[in-house]
Amino acid sequence: MPTLDTAETKEKIVQIQRAISAMQYLSSGTLLKRTKICGNPRCHCARDPAARHGPYYEWSYLKGGRLHHRTLTPKQAELMRLAIRNYRKAKKLLRTWEAHTQRLIEFNAPE
Ligand SMILES: [Zn+2]
Repeated sequence: MPTLDTAETKEKIVQIQRAISAMQYLSSGTLLKRTKICGNPRCHCARDPAARHGPYYEWSYLKGGRLHHRTLTPKQAELMRLAIRNYRKAKKLLRTWEAHTQRLIEFNAPE
């Protein structure tokens, strides 16, 4: 039943398009949560790991083949975490879309 398979494939593509269009935040890169030692030997952070400053959020991303880092506020980090999660999800969806496209091409333009 090639007709049914085509319809199913088209429906899968529509589902992917819906999932992607529901996304707003999208970003590559990775997010790190870190704490810092200020360097003042009299500060609590010098001895106590729990008294270190922060947390600070660092977003690392590739741009022009080079790795860049940016410090984010906790609120920015929260949105960035969502953006990175969406990016990974979108990449997976695009790969699936590619596979469905190959199937559609074979259905619509057989050898
Ligand atoms: Zn300190």
